[in-house]
Amino acid sequence: APAIVWFRRDLRLTDLPTLLAAADRANAALAVFVIDDRLRRPSGAPRLAFLADCLRALDADLGGRLLLTHGEPAAVIADLATRIGAASVHISEDFGPYGRMRDDAVEAALGAVPLVRTGSPYAVSPGRLRTKAGGPYRVFTPYRRAWLDHGWHSPARTDAGTLDWIDPDGLGERLDFDALAERTSVDLPPAGEAAALRRWRRFQQDAERGLDRYSDDRDRPDLDATTRLSPYLKFGCVHPRTLLHDLRGRGDAGAVALRSELAWRDFYADVLHRRPDTARANYHAAFDTLEYHSGPDADAAFDAWCAGRTGYPIVDAGMRQLLAEGWMHNRVRMIVASFLTKDLHLPWWRGARHFMKHLVDGDLASNQHGWQWTAGCGTDAAPFFRIFNPVSQGERFDPDGDYVRRWVPELRGIAGRAVHRPWLLAGDGDAVLPLSPSPASYPPPMVDHRAEREVALARYHRL
Ligand code: FAD
Repeated sequence: APAIVWFRRDLRLTDLPTLLAAADRANAALAVFVIDDRLRRPSGAPRLAFLADCLRALDADLGGRLLLTHGEPAAVIADLATRIGAASVHISEDFGPYGRMRDDAVEAALGAVPLVRTGSPYAVSPGRLRTKAGGPYRVFTPYRRAWLDHGWHSPARTDAGTLDWIDPDGLGERLDFDALAERTSVDLPPAGEAAALRRWRRFQQDAERGLDRYSDDRDRPDLDATTRLSPYLKFGCVHPRTLLHDLRGRGDAGAVALRSELAWRDFYADVLHRRPDTARANYHAAFDTLEYHSGPDADAAFDAWCAGRTGYPIVDAGMRQLLAEGWMHNRVRMIVASFLTKDLHLPWWRGARHFMKHLVDGDLASNQHGWQWTAGCGTDAAPFFRIFNPVSQGERFDPDGDYVRRWVPELRGIAGRAVHRPWLLAGDGDAVLPLSPSPASYPPPMVDHRAEREVALARYHRL
C-alpha cells in the first residue's frame, strides 16, 4: 500500500529522513501540502509569496507531482489516506504550539493509519536536552554547551528518487500555487532547495563576504556578511543538520560563530516548546506589571516606527528594509526592538506582530523570543538595562553610514557617519536638507533618547 508524505516546514528532497521512513513502508507515495487558514491568516503576503515559490520549486523537483490543497488538515489528510488506501502518513515533527495540536487531531482522524513522525526542523529537537536537575535550559550558554555535546545525525541520503510519486490529478481539489499568496511588491530571494544550497555554497566560498569573514563582519548591516539562509531554514529548504555537517571538524572563528547562531535557533524552539504560553506571555512573569505608554499618542508612535519615520536613521533604515525586503539584519532587529520597547515604551508583542506580518523568515519561536530577549523579559541573563543607543549603535555597526543611505534616500546627501546624526547638520533640530528622490523631508528625532532611557529605567524599577 502507498504512503502519504505530508510536507510542511520541510520543503526539500535531500536530507529528509521522512522520505526514508516512508520508503521503509512503501514504494509509492503521494506528496501533499495543505493550505491551512489558521496558519495562512497571520502570515503576511511576503512570507506567503515566498512559500508559494518554494512549493512551486518542490513541485518541479517532484516532476509536477505535489498536490496543493486547502482545508482543515485532519479532514483533508484522512480523506486522502482513504482515497489512495494509504498505509501510513509521514511528517517531520512540528513542535510549535499550534502544530502539535493540529498533528494530534490528524492522528486521531487517521484512526488505524499511523501518523509517523520522523525528524524535525531542528538539529536537536525541542525537549531533548535537559539540565542535570532534569529541567529545561533557561539561558543560552549552558544550552549551547549541552547542544554541542549532544551532537546531531549525519544528513540522510535522500532525493526525489527515494519514492515513486503518485500522480495527484483527480485526488481532491488541486490548487494552483498562486492561490496561496496575494501579490507583494517585496523583493523576495530566489525560492526553493536548489536556491538555498546555492546560497550556502557561495557563502562557504566567498572570501570577502562569506564564512571566513562571518565572525568579524556578522554585526555589520552595511555588508552582506551573513548567510541570509533564514527564509530557507524557516521552510526547510535546507536543514540545519546539512549546514552543521559541512562545518564539521572546523574550529575557525567563522564556523564556531555560525554553529552558535544555529544553536540559538534550536534554543528558542526548545524554550517555546516547553513554554508554549510565551508566544504571547512574558517569559518572566515579573514583567507582567511593567507599565507601557498607551493611548492615541502611543498609536501614532507605533505607526511612525512601522513606517521608518522615527528620525533615528539606523532605526528607520531597518524598518524600511523590513518593508522592502521582508528581512532585516539581526543587529538592526535588536536596535529597532530596543527602540520600540525602551524609547517608545510600547509592548514587545506589538512589534513582534508587525515583524511576523512582514518577515519572510518570520518564525514564532525565534521572533517572539528575539523580541522578549531585547525587551528584557525573556531568556537573557542581564536583561532590562541593556538599552541600545540608536546613534552609537549606528556609528559602531554602520561606520560609514552606507546602510542608512541605502534605505533612507532622504539622507543620501550626507556623507560618511554624520548620517547617523542628521540633526547636527540641520541647525535647530529641524528636518535635514531634502536632497533625495523622495519629496518628503526627513523627520527630526521623535523622542530624546537620553530622556527616554531614564523613563525606561524608572518603569523597570517600579516593577
Ligand atoms: P545568520 O547570521 O547567517 O545566521 C544563520 C542562521 O542562524 C539564521 O538563518 C537563523 O536560522 C539562525 N539564527 C541567527 N541568529 C539567530 C537568533 N538570534 N535567534 C534565532 N536564530 C538565529 N530569526 C528568524 O529566523 N525568524 C524570525 O522571525 C526572527 N525574528 C527575530 C526578531 C528579533 C527582535 C530579533 C532580535 C531576532 C530575530 N531573529 C529571527 C533572529 C535573527 O535576526 C535572524 O535569524 C537572522 O537575522 C537571519 O539572517 P541570516 O540567515 O543571514 O543569519
